[in-house]
Amino acid sequence: MKIICIGRNYIEHAKELNSEIPNEPVFFLKPDTSLIKDNRPFFYPDFSKDIQYEVELVLKIAKAGKNIQTKFANKYYDEIGIGIDFTARDIQNICKTKGLPWEKAKAFDGAAPIGKFISKNEFLDQKNINFNLNINNYLVQKGNTKDLLFSFDTIIAHVSNFFTLKTGDLIFTGTPEGVGPIKIGDRLEAYIENQKLLDFEIK
Ligand code: ZN
Repeated sequence: MKIICIGRNYIEHAKELNSEIPNEPVFFLKPDTSLIKDNRPFFYPDFSKDIQYEVELVLKIAKAGKNIQTKFANKYYDEIGIGIDFTARDIQNICKTKGLPWEKAKAFDGAAPIGKFISKNEFLDQKNINFNLNINNYLVQKGNTKDLLFSFDTIIAHVSNFFTLKTGDLIFTGTPEGVGPIKIGDRLEAYIENQKLLDFEIK
């Protein structure tokens, strides 16, 4: 399986990082070795001094498809979950300055914790889903899909022009504003509509 991540998909987040607002989805990949499941802890790596959280809604692909049309894209995912796109911001900043790829900053072991998934049918309106991240019981990020620059369907259509999507692939759909650093000992809890789906510690 593969993990596709969309960057700069909430305007306020792009602004906080002084990034350009894209006119088509920006994306990158993480390998399956970046996944953390079942609320297992994240171990802070030695190679970075500035690992940052980015809470994101995650789509689970339900069937294979290529060159998917936007109007059919909804049929290609069946579940929505929540995850953290951990980013070594210090390394990413170097990569950005030098024009290098982002993998070192985004694709390392444990860089993609994911929580439980719920059926997309539980959402009456996929363009109005609230989600948030608390660290040590303090709200640090909250988002709503109404603020997405590119909708779930647009993302799927665009990405599938480049990659065949397969059952079980995951798409991280971008983070709202409020990203920031983690430290050892932190507890991260992520919610969709007040339902806690992810709860783990930094060790
Ligand atoms: Zn992200």
